Amino acid sequence: MPERFPASLQQKIEDRLRYYEDLGIRLFYTDRGPGGATLIAPEPIASASSPPPVIEENVLPKPTTKPARAKVAPVAPPPPLVVPPTGPSLFETMEKVKNETLLKIRGDLGECTRCKLHKGRNKIVFGDGNPKAELVFVGEGPGADEDAQGLPFVGRAGKLLTQMIEAMGLQRKDVYICNVVKCRPPENRAPEPDEVTACSPFLIRQIDSIHPKVIVCLGATAAKTILNTTRGISQFRGEWLEWRGHKLMATYHPAYLLRNPPAKADVWKDLQKVMAELGLQLPKKSKS
Ligand code: URA
Repeated sequence: MPERFPASLQQKIEDRLRYYEDLGIRLFYTDRGPGGATLIAPEPIASASSPPPVIEENVLPKPTTKPARAKVAPVAPPPPLVVPPTGPSLFETMEKVKNETLLKIRGDLGECTRCKLHKGRNKIVFGDGNPKAELVFVGEGPGADEDAQGLPFVGRAGKLLTQMIEAMGLQRKDVYICNVVKCRPPENRAPEPDEVTACSPFLIRQIDSIHPKVIVCLGATAAKTILNTTRGISQFRGEWLEWRGHKLMATYHPAYLLRNPPAKADVWKDLQKVMAELGLQLPKKSKS
């Protein structure tokens, strides 16, 4: 059995071996059979803190046969994108209500005081758009502009969302836009579990009643909440998932894109998949 090294020393040895390998010296691997190769320390090994030795080209051993490559232990493939990995939630288990309309759901919501968010709100932001939309966007929760106007995504992030929708060849009135929670969380913090629990029956009813072909979750909070997962959004962003019989895709939140514009390219890739699913063509550029 090869000797085991402390992790820090192992790392230094590996770095040093990689350095040698870059120089064409690949004599430090012993094959252990089916389990793959084992790294062993070169002999003698210089002190880990000393600089790598200068090796002149003419003293490098000339490989007579093809150098043995280290076998890399097989990496297990990631688990299939099956949602939810953390157990059922209301989002999966709530029964569909028959003969729903958005008007009725809004009526049932009333001047809601079901959670503490009502204390700080100005207006409930129920949702906006086409009640028969094929595409629904779900965000996290209203911000200051939305709270003032009672409409979702009308601030800076909302303007970017509008541009994204228009880039898809649609208009805001063609889609439906709503949020995980309908009242503004203080300081725009993420909604808390009790707030999500209180609000989610209304979101589920809204989506069930619209019955869209595609749901796009905007940002980690919406995606992780709806999918009941703790996985980071970058692990499943852009993948088609299934949720209550709808196709669902998560992508980055427009507010994140405002802070990190290069991520717009990823979002555009995701939205193009959505367009393909909805049979939308890229809008023709107008001649000017
Ligand atoms: N961010 C959201 O998640 N929702 C809005 O309505 C506005 C900003």
